[in-house]
Amino acid sequence: MSTSEDAIRKPLPSPDGDTAPFWTGLQDGKLLLQHCSKCNHVQYYQQQLCRNCGSEELERKPASGGGTVHSFSVVYRAPGPAFKNDVPYAVLLVELAEGPRMISTYTGGPPEDVTFDMGVRLVLDKISDDVTLPRFRRA
Ligand SMILES: [Zn+2]
Repeated sequence: MSTSEDAIRKPLPSPDGDTAPFWTGLQDGKLLLQHCSKCNHVQYYQQQLCRNCGSEELERKPASGGGTVHSFSVVYRAPGPAFKNDVPYAVLLVELAEGPRMISTYTGGPPEDVTFDMGVRLVLDKISDDVTLPRFRRA
């Protein structure tokens, strides 16, 4: 059954086997990256195998939280009713200090502040008891 409250609820991530430790890590204040012990590749998207060499020897380690804005765009039109109060906001493609790139959103200032190659710092935004989202502010 769908209520009007459900209709404006934002879509939230639903952790599965591969990603559950990642979401738990965020709740503990850590953005976990997977480090391959065979080839030293570091990946953000949690998978069973190293995307570089196919090894299963992946170890989760917390990211330093530093990064730079590789690319970004500012959203002026809400993608749905739940986002109406958020616009305008900046969607960032952040290159983490460890190498992987991740999509996130900007916080701590107006989206007009965002520039290419701007240094950013991880902020963990607790939005419910179960979900904490990684976002970035100016470093
Ligand atoms: Zn590897």
